[in-house]
Amino acid sequence: MKVAVFSTKAYDKQFLTDANKSNRHELVFLEERLTDKTAPLSTGFRIVCVFVNDQLNESVLKVLAANGVGLIALRCAGFNNVDLRVAEKLGLVVVHVPAYSPYAVAEHTVGLIMALNRKIHKAYDRVREGNLSLEGLLGFELHDKTVGIIGTGKIGKVVSKILFGYGCKLLANDLEPNPSCLAIGVKYVSLDELFIGSDIITLHCPLIPETYHMINAEAISQMKTGLMLINTSRGGLIDTSAVIDGLKSGKIRYLGLDVYEEEPDLFFENLSDTVIQDDVFARLLTFPNVIITGHQAFFTNSAMVNIAKITVSNFTDFQEGKLCTNQITTKLVVR
Ligand code: NAD
Repeated sequence: MKVAVFSTKAYDKQFLTDANKSNRHELVFLEERLTDKTAPLSTGFRIVCVFVNDQLNESVLKVLAANGVGLIALRCAGFNNVDLRVAEKLGLVVVHVPAYSPYAVAEHTVGLIMALNRKIHKAYDRVREGNLSLEGLLGFELHDKTVGIIGTGKIGKVVSKILFGYGCKLLANDLEPNPSCLAIGVKYVSLDELFIGSDIITLHCPLIPETYHMINAEAISQMKTGLMLINTSRGGLIDTSAVIDGLKSGKIRYLGLDVYEEEPDLFFENLSDTVIQDDVFARLLTFPNVIITGHQAFFTNSAMVNIAKITVSNFTDFQEGKLCTNQITTKLVVR
């Protein structure tokens, strides 16, 4: 089947081509991000394959449906960028890759915690310049610190297990407790209790209307002074302006982000020769106690192999008219 692969990077082409070895599907790789402007490129395709920052709003979905597209295959887990209600009304099937390697994101999360705590980013630069002073590099031990995990699904569970290994005390908030987390002593509490009691807070729930800006000025006011906040889930979970105020006041002492609410105009591109126009993002970059990575938590070899394999099998299920187990419907997300 003919597939338009939007937002293609060299690595997408490599992994998807490998997974489509039998050449069962005709993959057409497009560098363009799917937006209102580029939606007409879907003409002649039954499937569009998209990533985290492609826009699947009402107007784009209408163009896709009018062009004869039947399947929207997300090559990622999150699906906050798709208007599912409109897709359903238009008869468009939406599939994603629900699980490919929770370890990839969980390990990156702990990597951010450790880098911020032991100031590895600063030490790297210093040592290369011949500065071997330890002034300003004082860290803390994770052992006995309380970490609050919001969302203990596939990724949050792995984060809990890794941090359990560090000897952390673990608090969690989720709609339902995860038995694997309960088994290692994770204590489920209300969001307020988690905000009040945690030294580190890490976000692993989806971005849905109920979780939009869950970390806002009111939430931050409840948190411990000197808190570390980590977000490797979705940018919209955080009200960035409130977090900047928290950094300026010292309430938030460390911030680690792999995602950013306005990332579609910034991430996955080399902007080193341009002037960044997003003043909020530019402000974040000025803080010495902030580490930002550009949505790379998923980016490991095994994760890319799994994403490509599952994505191609999603194409095949659709081609064969099978009910795809990875289909997302509004019934699944509206609770
Ligand atoms: P998952 O569905 O397995 O787990 C999500 C958990 O959040 C579930 O246990 C769910 O019950 C819980 N949850 C839902 N609503 C909640 C609420 N209002 N409050 C508290 N908890 C709530 O998903 P996952 O695979 O663990 O992924 C988590 C998120 O990580 C995804 O939604 C995605 O946005 C993000 N992600 C980021 C990257 C990256 O590269 N940075 C990669 C993959 C996934």
